Amino acid sequence: MSTATLTIDRSALVDNWRSLARTAQVETAAVVKADGYGLGAGAVGTALAAAGAREFFVAAASEGVALRRALGSGPRISIFSGHMAGDGEAIRGADLVPMINSIDQLLRHVETLPGHPFGLQLDTGMNRLGMEPGEWSTLRDIALAQNPTLVMSHLACADEPGHPMNDQQRRSFDEMTAGIDAPRSLAATGGTLLGSAFHYDLVRPGIGLYGGLPFVDARPVVTLDIPVIQIRDVAVGETVGYANAWTAARPSRIATISAGYADGLIRAMGARAKLHSGDRAVPVVGRVSMDLITVDVTDLPEAPDSLQLIGLHQSVDTVAGFAGTIGYEILTGLGGRYERVWRD
Ligand SMILES: *Cc1c(COP(=O)(O)O)cnc(C)c1O
Repeated sequence: MSTATLTIDRSALVDNWRSLARTAQVETAAVVKADGYGLGAGAVGTALAAAGAREFFVAAASEGVALRRALGSGPRISIFSGHMAGDGEAIRGADLVPMINSIDQLLRHVETLPGHPFGLQLDTGMNRLGMEPGEWSTLRDIALAQNPTLVMSHLACADEPGHPMNDQQRRSFDEMTAGIDAPRSLAATGGTLLGSAFHYDLVRPGIGLYGGLPFVDARPVVTLDIPVIQIRDVAVGETVGYANAWTAARPSRIATISAGYADGLIRAMGARAKLHSGDRAVPVVGRVSMDLITVDVTDLPEAPDSLQLIGLHQSVDTVAGFAGTIGYEILTGLGGRYERVWRD
């Protein structure tokens, strides 16, 4: 095998969805934007639909079209970015439900696709997407008269349970949606874990399904094994990689492995990153290149055939930490060169 293998554990994915659904005790959707957080929206969606998920969310209409092809008719597919200019045909053809974010989007939607279902997204303080209280109060009665599928908002600080923003947004959501009949939704993964006050009628977890924080009890879903291309001995004082960034302080064995920043193993991981051979950790040395990473395997008893970056020993969030980023960015950045293997 010349490229790295990304193994995706279908039963862990399904277990994570079920366990968030048990926590929420309300309709539990699956967020599969960004190609299922990098793992493949079609395969993720198919597995979760088979487990009983009936509500899916994507960011853009084009993602919804691809997901509809994988899922067939039945599950609802909603779009966070709402109804953008030019999306009418995709929304109609793939039977997608835009989450309307503004008066302009609502006008566009009812003009382009009269009678086609839509949901509503409200801004409760994050200032990113959705209608603000003023805009909402003008539109509320007209929009609600058309039976929206969902009225939703999004939390800015849900991964910090003690953050006052959580209750502030919840109160704002309560005020903006008081007395309405439409189903309501406020929580993604973080909000689902904040407790029942945040669950309303539907929760929308994404990262937790894929084994990422803040769902600390998630089963790991992703394993990344990278083949060793070559191993060489390096004498004291010799250097490794671009800019001579690492110098051997002892006689060393260096393994060159087949993945790099073009595969989403970002250069900022630099020399803080570790990989594993079995349960032994081995450090990255020198710079991460586009297609290659060099690893000090001097302390291993045998030459490894491959090294593991993500797996039981090291979560996607640990790997993200090497680069000062979050698991979301590592997952969604995993490139197109991996062999993606689904395991049950
Ligand atoms: C991405 C997203 C989600 C899922 O968030 P996670 O933190 O991955 O669970 C839910 N709702 C909205 C509006 C989103 O943008």
